[in-house]
Amino acid sequence: MMNEQDIEAIKVLLASPKKIVIIPHRNQDGDSMGSTLGLYHFLIQLQHEVTVISPNEFADYLKWMPAADKVLLFEENHEACEPKLNEADIIFTLDFNAFHRTGEFMGSFLEKLDRTFIMIDHHQLPDDYAKYMYSDTKMSSACEMVYHFITQLGYENLINSTVGTCLYTGLVTDTGSFRFSSTTSTTLRVAASLVDKGVNSAQIHNNLFDTSSYNRLQLLGKALQNMKLMPEYKTSYITLTQNELDSHHYQKGDTEGFVNYGLSIDGIDFTAIFIENKPEGIIKISFRSQGDFDVNQFARNYFNGGGHINAAGGKSTVNIEETVAKFIKIVKETKK
Ligand code: 5GP
Ligand code: MN
Repeated sequence: MMNEQDIEAIKVLLASPKKIVIIPHRNQDGDSMGSTLGLYHFLIQLQHEVTVISPNEFADYLKWMPAADKVLLFEENHEACEPKLNEADIIFTLDFNAFHRTGEFMGSFLEKLDRTFIMIDHHQLPDDYAKYMYSDTKMSSACEMVYHFITQLGYENLINSTVGTCLYTGLVTDTGSFRFSSTTSTTLRVAASLVDKGVNSAQIHNNLFDTSSYNRLQLLGKALQNMKLMPEYKTSYITLTQNELDSHHYQKGDTEGFVNYGLSIDGIDFTAIFIENKPEGIIKISFRSQGDFDVNQFARNYFNGGGHINAAGGKSTVNIEETVAKFIKIVKETKK
């Protein structure tokens, strides 16, 4: 729950029409998209002027979401975005904990911006930029937090099927369809109450998971063939080079969920996927674990990243061979 004093102050703020901007993290996922659009569909019912500004373009598998077509993209269209941000009475930042998570370009703009920020986020070690902060690492998803936030404000009646569809999406994607240990009885009650409000769970799962291209599945096949095991360290990892992506006509979002296969092998409790991104000159890395192994700390310590205890990400600027060699060395040194 958000602190009661902050809730009271935000109630006062929202009592009259405001200019509001909502920002998710860069390279959006289902939770950032669902929480920002869910909050958007709630706030417009209170007659606010609301704009969602995504740092960059998001994947096709999220484009079905209600009002996804209204989202502005900072990196592609900053001329339209900057006035919105400069004039905003309130800026919500959702599903991230530090301005740099919006990327270098938007992050450096936000650093200089003197506005009232409200953070709703479930990542470890949040930065201190927000006047009102709802940060809880035990939460399954930012979407679950937006549900609690709206309820706490006393507006549960405004959670209609549109708001609900958005929020349900992030519940599903951030909990791996309600199977990760972050799924609490409260998470399931929130999901149930959204279904009561008219959300079509089967349709959302279908939109998210049954809309792959043939190329994407062939790329998954390649990723699985590339998987390597380090059984003595209960570790596995996958690599995908830019050439492999190109030869499968890679589209943004195609590798979503691949990392989880590394954990599905018996006896493995830590996995990583290394994806070469030649245009950005980086290797993007995702880490996943089961149990106590803290991948947030691992990503922070060695790969310039962060996240949650069992799901984190990072990046590397040396080539993919060197990045993997570094990973293997660290695993051997730090993990028994
Ligand atoms: P994914 O591996 O699905 O991209 O991300 C897993 C989790 O780690 C998400 O909560 C995501 O926000 C976080 N994350 C991913 N990449 C980074 C990164 O480069 N830096 C930080 N701080 N967090 C990341
Ligand atoms: Mn999230």
